[in-house]
Amino acid sequence: MWIGLDDTDSTFAGGCTTFAAYRIISHLTGRGYYVIGYPRLVRLNPNIPWKTRGNGALSFQIASDGEKEILIGLNNGEKIYGYQKIKEECDNPKKIFDLVSKILEKEARFDDENTNPGLVVTREKIDYELYKKAVKTIVSLDKVVSLLGKNNALYIGYKNKRGLIGAAASIAWSPINDRTYELITYRKEKKIGSKREVDDDSVKIMDKKIATTFDNYDYVNKHNRIKPNSPCPVLYGIRGDVAHDLIKAMKIVKSEDFQGWMIFESNQGTDEHLQRKEKIKDVSSFESVILKGTVWKEPFTIPGGHVIFKIKDGNNDTIDCAAYEPTKEFRSIIRGLCKGDVVEVYGGVREKPFTINLEKIKIIDVVKIVKKVENPVCEKCGKHMKSMGKEEGFRCVKCGAKTDESKAKYAIISRKPSPGFYEVPVCARRHLSKPLKRMVKEA
Ligand code: ATP
Repeated sequence: MWIGLDDTDSTFAGGCTTFAAYRIISHLTGRGYYVIGYPRLVRLNPNIPWKTRGNGALSFQIASDGEKEILIGLNNGEKIYGYQKIKEECDNPKKIFDLVSKILEKEARFDDENTNPGLVVTREKIDYELYKKAVKTIVSLDKVVSLLGKNNALYIGYKNKRGLIGAAASIAWSPINDRTYELITYRKEKKIGSKREVDDDSVKIMDKKIATTFDNYDYVNKHNRIKPNSPCPVLYGIRGDVAHDLIKAMKIVKSEDFQGWMIFESNQGTDEHLQRKEKIKDVSSFESVILKGTVWKEPFTIPGGHVIFKIKDGNNDTIDCAAYEPTKEFRSIIRGLCKGDVVEVYGGVREKPFTINLEKIKIIDVVKIVKKVENPVCEKCGKHMKSMGKEEGFRCVKCGAKTDESKAKYAIISRKPSPGFYEVPVCARRHLSKPLKRMVKEA
């Protein structure tokens, strides 16, 4: 049986859909149900205008019994185990639906007008195509509702029912191409809303010791990335490629006491939101793209510190690309681009202004820049000659002898940045963006 939920939290009233899932799972495992595999935190289209924060949706599979135990979490001192394989399916979806909807109604922040929870319980896994669409484009509620009908799913959408989209799309995800994990710790009730105590130095030690983790600490901007800023129940989240390494990582981090933790399987850090586009004409707002082009208008900085440049494709169409202020030192890479450089840009497409918001860039080829380094020397007088203007040649101020441009000395300027991949710093990284650290591993 699959359970999916989404849109239970609020930017001002707190909450977190992973916490609602943690609560539901803790409850179900105490009632003879078991999670199969890890619960899943699935990030969907990061350019959805109505998302609260990171457009994350939750799902998990449960059964009455399973084989091959795995430790998936801890709740107030009690270990939560799941199983790798199903031994016995659970047979009463309505009972599960009633149980889960009660907990969700308690956890969801209905007071926020932008919170529109959705819950799906289904025996049949939802078709992967829905996930593919929901991570890359905008999906309509009608389509999802009709799909849920075909699946004979039990579902409830609250308020405008939009949460059903994420709940269903999360169930539809399968880690067929790539997967990562995140271990999330949850604060003690009385601490929620207060300043988080997570020791930076211990996070740096963990970051260096547990090589399979990523996006823990931004050393340039001194930003402890595992700790969120919102008033939600999450104390910190550690992301990595190997689930059991995350437990080792948690043991290294020094922090305030927490009520428990849970490991989620995830599509975070996989670049699954990106679509390769051959032509600028095919780029649409609210999508995320990989697009090759030639720098057409050189980078310039606008008020606010955002750096903008234009690229052109083979059809002579152009589009703006932006490295916004929060991308910090990444902007100096971008400022180094020159007209004629060939690049591949990776990023989300903003509607207004129509711009690619850069997450990464691959500099494929840089143009040679030749610069005059010395004026010619007069053959008679042995003195450096003076320029007579752009491409007008040179003249000796002493004897009046003239010569042309070719007699000056020129040098090829060494270009920075050189060809290669560059990414925004950890502090500005999007949940779905694949860190270069993971890309190198694959190569
Ligand atoms: P958090 O990351 O803190 O859990 P959030 O950013 O996930 O919050 P939500 O509150 O879940 O934000 O709001 C996102 C809403 O957008 C949900 O209702 C979800 O169902 C819907 N949604 C997600 N992906 C799509 C999509 N591709 N097309 C249309 N709607 C979507």
